[in-house]
Amino acid sequence: MTDLDEYRSRARAWLAERTADLPPDPGLAECRAFMADLYDAGYVGITWPVEYGGRGLTAAEERAFQQAAADLPLPVGVFGIGLGMCGPTLLSLGTEEQKRRYVRPLLRGEEIWCQMFSEPGAGSDVASLQTRAVRDGDHWVVDGQKVWTSVARQADLGLLIARTDPDVPKHQGITMFVVDMHDPGVDVRPLRDMTGESHFNEVFFTGVRVPAENVVGEVDGGWSAAVTTLLHERVSIGMGAARTERPASFAALRTAARERGLLGEPGVRDLLLDLYLRERAFDLLNARMSQEVRAGIQPGARGSVSKLLLADLTMAGADLASEILGPECLTGDGPIARALAWAPGMALGGGTNEIMRNIIGDRVLGLPREPQVDRNIPYKALKVGTQAKEDGR
Ligand SMILES: Cc1cc2nc3c(=O)[nH]c(=O)nc-3n(C[C@H](O)[C@H](O)[C@H](O)COP(=O)(O)OP(=O)(O)OC[C@H]3O[C@@H](n4cnc5c(N)ncnc54)[C@H](O)[C@@H]3O)c2cc1C
Repeated sequence: MTDLDEYRSRARAWLAERTADLPPDPGLAECRAFMADLYDAGYVGITWPVEYGGRGLTAAEERAFQQAAADLPLPVGVFGIGLGMCGPTLLSLGTEEQKRRYVRPLLRGEEIWCQMFSEPGAGSDVASLQTRAVRDGDHWVVDGQKVWTSVARQADLGLLIARTDPDVPKHQGITMFVVDMHDPGVDVRPLRDMTGESHFNEVFFTGVRVPAENVVGEVDGGWSAAVTTLLHERVSIGMGAARTERPASFAALRTAARERGLLGEPGVRDLLLDLYLRERAFDLLNARMSQEVRAGIQPGARGSVSKLLLADLTMAGADLASEILGPECLTGDGPIARALAWAPGMALGGGTNEIMRNIIGDRVLGLPREPQVDRNIPYKALKVGTQAKEDGR
């Protein structure tokens, strides 16, 4: 048995014991307690630097842990944005103090993070954002609105991007901040989505005072900070999904078709085969990217390929599920019915399919960039806007 095999079986044994008594739908306190135990056992931040609370191990141990956890629904979803996006952004761009202050509590689940980029008038074109931060002594004062913010209700801290200089072109006058979600000027309002739950929220900021030391990266350099977060986001969504259970998967739908006597139907068999091929292609692409990560090659913009394939795969699974389950899809409350309602969101969150295709064209295939007529015009001269300033300007 190699050291890695031993590591994997130790992780498997630990997980089997710790997950045995988990309720089917754990509450926030149980999720936090699980995360703290997982961290204390050494299974969170496996490859993150030791000086900030990580374990400093290699991608091989990380992969071994993922294999050990593969069939277990771990209650860690609420920590996903912190682990997949905010933490890696802080490690890349944070000051020494920020890394020492934030990373360990993030890993241990003591502080939950959200990411506040999208606004009512700035989603795909997030650089048109209107939320503003104005310097006042050793603070910045934030006013504005964000939308579609996942886990904002549970979050203790958030990464925010805001307009700090309207006199320069829109990509240049943006700054990234760490914001305390418990500040009285932060108002989080849940949005009900079509799964019937509230995964995301609107967030309103009214005179929120953010200390100057909470700037992440450079003042007015927030666009490149945001791109760093978004690259991590796409890799984390695409590659993360390769490791988690997919309810409308080939295996689940083959079973559902067999149970309903539909496996012999040529139409259903065709769609099942199509889904199988998409799943294999997706899994192989992610296996290759994981190997590259282990060899020190970062996926960069190629994370968008994985994210786009996942969105296509998810929709193909949802279409086939509706073919097999028929009206049960609308009335049922099983994992497949829930996956169906969640499927269209995969083509939007983390950047839409069209935006992924633009990125793949520009940055992976080297095709000419989309024309952008507003790139060199001062932001204040642009006609953007859903959030009027109080003085009407
Ligand atoms: C499940 C989920 C979770 C989310 N979580 C977060 C979060 O935690 N934090 C956060 O900040 N945001 C979050 N979002 C928001 C998400 O990032 C945006 O929905 C997304 O970027 C699209 O923006 P939009 O909704 O404003 O659509 P729009 O940008 O208005 O797009 C509308 C349509 O126009 C198309 N389009 C736009 N521009 C172009 C173009 N240049 N070329 C071709 N087509 C184009 C789009 O593809 C889309 O079909 C989440 C969204 C979802 C669904």
